[in-house]
Amino acid sequence: MTKPVASTVPFPTSSSAHDPIPLIDLKPQYQSIKQEIDEAVQRVFENQTFVLGDEVSKFESEIASYCDSREAIGCASGTDALILALQALNIGPGDEVITSPFTFFATASSIERVGAKPVFVDVEENGFNINPQAISAAVTSRTKAIMPVHIFGQCAKMEEINRIATKHNLAVIEDAAQAIGSEYRGRRTGVLGTIGCFSFFPTKNLGGAGDGGMITTDDAQLATRLKRLRVHGDAGRYQHIDLGMNSRLDSLQAAVLSVKLRYLDSWTEGRQRNASWYQELFDREQLGSVIQLPKTLPDRRHVYNQYCVRVHDGLRDEVLNSLREQQIGCAVYYPQPLHLQPCFAHHGYKEGQFPISEQLSRDIMALPIFAELNLGQLERVVSGVGKAVRSAQSKSSSISKAA
Ligand SMILES: *Cc1c(COP(=O)(O)O)cnc(C)c1O
Repeated sequence: MTKPVASTVPFPTSSSAHDPIPLIDLKPQYQSIKQEIDEAVQRVFENQTFVLGDEVSKFESEIASYCDSREAIGCASGTDALILALQALNIGPGDEVITSPFTFFATASSIERVGAKPVFVDVEENGFNINPQAISAAVTSRTKAIMPVHIFGQCAKMEEINRIATKHNLAVIEDAAQAIGSEYRGRRTGVLGTIGCFSFFPTKNLGGAGDGGMITTDDAQLATRLKRLRVHGDAGRYQHIDLGMNSRLDSLQAAVLSVKLRYLDSWTEGRQRNASWYQELFDREQLGSVIQLPKTLPDRRHVYNQYCVRVHDGLRDEVLNSLREQQIGCAVYYPQPLHLQPCFAHHGYKEGQFPISEQLSRDIMALPIFAELNLGQLERVVSGVGKAVRSAQSKSSSISKAA
């Protein structure tokens, strides 16, 4: 955290009052650092080393120092990071891993993929992260690990989660795919559990030019195993100790990400500034209790990979439609909690089992938050939401009168 923070924010966007506002636009970010990125790409082509190599080792040590972890191991995606972490911990058939149903699919699919069972427990209203009390209640003799997700960029209750893990001798795998740089009590994601898993999918806060992932840990033995697992379990000279996979980080991704890492904190500050502008602008818009803004919980550094508001009174879908008509970016993360996904049906989870996650999937709506947005655009988003809410309210009151 001693590294100088390069700054590109605020980026002067030239938008007029009628341009669409996308949920995310990666172009201004690229424009602001184009020369450095282009040079990095060029360098990789000159070297013709495309898989692992010096670019990757250098980037791995930069991530280790950014997260304050002893080890960092690059791999092909955030999904693979989770799978490799589970494999390194010997988690497989007959084992259970406790996780959240209110997350991206890959959190639970990685558990299923290694042959273990994802055991879902509900999240908390405050922050949308896994509920530690519910974790305690779900521990069985088959439980091997807890996989908390730092959803939308804000940390789960790691102290309580680690206490439960210690009590029952469980590993903690952080799904930090949305949360690079996020902090809990001054410590960064990646070192808050046994293993941390990151994604460099282009729309994550640190996004590459394609897929990429990273695993962090303080445990040297686990790191050795992870490095082996990503290259077919090869311990050297074609001695395959483990049944690993092919999941390596490309040099091209490492070179690009290494440039972008220098700007990550300034982009995070841009996201945080936008969140505080939203707070002010929504206060002024006076939408009462219909729109509930996300909150930063105590002891956290929220990095806002997504800015998700809740739309109450069953108005969410009407509001979404209206925003789309107004060409204001919005999306639903996530429209269906994972316990109700068809591919997990064989576990027998039922609708109604995790009421908070289910309600969130009906209420939640993401608004644009990327760093390069300007105040004028945020004002248009908020007045657009105001317009959408008022029109949805008048429709629903005329329906209820007719009924
Ligand atoms: C993006 C994401 C992943 C998967 O990362 P990929 O790099 O796309 O494989 C896993 N978990 C969460 C919570 C994510 O948001």
